[in-house]
Amino acid sequence: MLSVKNDISTLIISICSEYGNDKTRLLDILRKVQDSFGYIPDESFAIIAREVSSYRVEVQSVASFYSFITKEKKGKFTIKLCNDIIDQFLGVAKIAKIFEDELGIKFGETTPDEIFSLEYVACIGMSDQSPAAIINDLIFTKLSSDQAREIISGLKQTHDLSQIAHHLGDGNNAHPLIKSMVNNQIRKTGEVVLGKYHKSAALNNVISLSPAEVIREIKASRLRGRGGAGFPTGMKWEFARNAPGDRKTIICNADEGEPGTFKDRVILTERADMVFEGMTIGAYAVGAETGILYLRAEYSYLKNYLEAVLTSRREANLLGNDIIGKKGFNFDIRIQMGAGSYVCGEETSLISSCEGFRGDPKNRPPFPAQKGYLGTPTSVNNVETFCCVVQIINRGPAWFASIGTKGSPGTKLLSVCGDCSTPGIYEVPFGITIEELLKFSGAADTQAVQVGGPSGFLIAPAEFKRKVCYDDLVTGGSIMIFNKTRSILEIVEYFVDFFIDESCGYCTPCRVGNVLLKDKLKKIMNGFGEKGDIEYLQKLGNNIQTSSRCGLGQTSPRPILSSIDGFRSEYEKLLKVRKDGFAPSFDINAALGLSEKIIGRKSVIFEE
Ligand code: SF4
Repeated sequence: MLSVKNDISTLIISICSEYGNDKTRLLDILRKVQDSFGYIPDESFAIIAREVSSYRVEVQSVASFYSFITKEKKGKFTIKLCNDIIDQFLGVAKIAKIFEDELGIKFGETTPDEIFSLEYVACIGMSDQSPAAIINDLIFTKLSSDQAREIISGLKQTHDLSQIAHHLGDGNNAHPLIKSMVNNQIRKTGEVVLGKYHKSAALNNVISLSPAEVIREIKASRLRGRGGAGFPTGMKWEFARNAPGDRKTIICNADEGEPGTFKDRVILTERADMVFEGMTIGAYAVGAETGILYLRAEYSYLKNYLEAVLTSRREANLLGNDIIGKKGFNFDIRIQMGAGSYVCGEETSLISSCEGFRGDPKNRPPFPAQKGYLGTPTSVNNVETFCCVVQIINRGPAWFASIGTKGSPGTKLLSVCGDCSTPGIYEVPFGITIEELLKFSGAADTQAVQVGGPSGFLIAPAEFKRKVCYDDLVTGGSIMIFNKTRSILEIVEYFVDFFIDESCGYCTPCRVGNVLLKDKLKKIMNGFGEKGDIEYLQKLGNNIQTSSRCGLGQTSPRPILSSIDGFRSEYEKLLKVRKDGFAPSFDINAALGLSEKIIGRKSVIFEE
């Protein structure tokens, strides 16, 4: 890291110039400035604005949107401890206390010597090996109390992260360009994504077809997007291909920020070539020359490896001009790093982020297939979707459609975590029941399963025969298992808090509505719930769903609404019903506390 006193201006000018003084690369510029100084010095904003022909306030606005970009000076080592609900249940509080005790600071603070900072993050994609933390770009998993102490003492002695990274994970996690302590934890391989893969065979087949024929094959397979929305991929590509415009774009959404999801982490580690091959096939079908892999900031430990895969593909003429000798087939891919924002998983937000803006969602229409990245017709597809494309071309649409169910052909990678003995990745045919999944993963005494992460549904045992597929339980991959020792309302509260934090704030139903949901939920949890409070939650939840602008707000009340459906008694048992008819909507003792202190005498409260 450089001292701020060094010539900030020269360095920032050279960073901007490295990105062609291009305003659309603002996120990359800000990330690089932060990498150089450890934070964004205040002086930087005006310099960047001048270099990229923007305004200081605009640059500041972008920087302030992303949680991994900071204007505050941080320590040399920033420990970002994951505190999602799975980590909370698996003991993150104990690990947090050790970090605080060893460093003498609280979370949100930096040590006076500016060596350590402590922060919480929402989910780092390691829920199968919790508790977990990121220190700078290095991931630490399955943290024990002893390890937490060793990390701090090791860093205090050596000031070198590589010295305290001991065991390496399995598969490509041990690759010299990754060297992470992460394990893939692949528990079940299917035929599509984690089955046999012959590099470039599909791409070689594709160039003997016309783009229209490729789209026809994908449509015949009935492939639907694996991110959760389930839009037919062939149709999406056709819209982008037919949209007017010479320049088109293919984007791979690798921003899996849904707590409890980590399947893309494993795909990118073990099937990077397959993902890039799928993108190249998509580019051929759509007529795109530009490709972007949007990689979530939490997975930056994979970036060097992914860049190396891209380089080797360029060297093999699998990217670049006249790909594998096909005249005019030109396509290349760049990696766009995210910077810590859940809403950027929404495709229009992700496009805004790639364009160097805040990750605010855009109004639709126009849809990205008509007017997306920099105004070009754009297809945004999930990491897993691109892998499916490769196998469809290799083995034919009929083979693919024969797996799974009629409405949901193919396999699905599920990220299973929580109260089970074998958390990890399961590639299963669509149509698997929750009951079967619980059996595979060694779950016992299960009280509830959250399907689809916070934006999904909390389901009760009576529904465990339901199927994972687009016609029943839809999920982008997240399956969180909770046993009978867990508090349902605590789980729901975590999800509501998550949405309050992640809302971009643009529209009132989402920005304000979720806070009101939280207030009412808290009132019930604190034992002051009234008869009408459950109906209030349902009514408000429905309003938020129907009046929010983007998918985040539209799905945010689901944990509350589905838990009322499946676990109504958990709410009802906390409601207070007095014989005198008065509603105890607040804690009168606590409310009178301050005045009692001032006047020096106790109030008399008549209990029921
Ligand atoms: Fe932003 Fe929420 Fe509105 Fe989406 S629904 S635009 S996240 S405030």
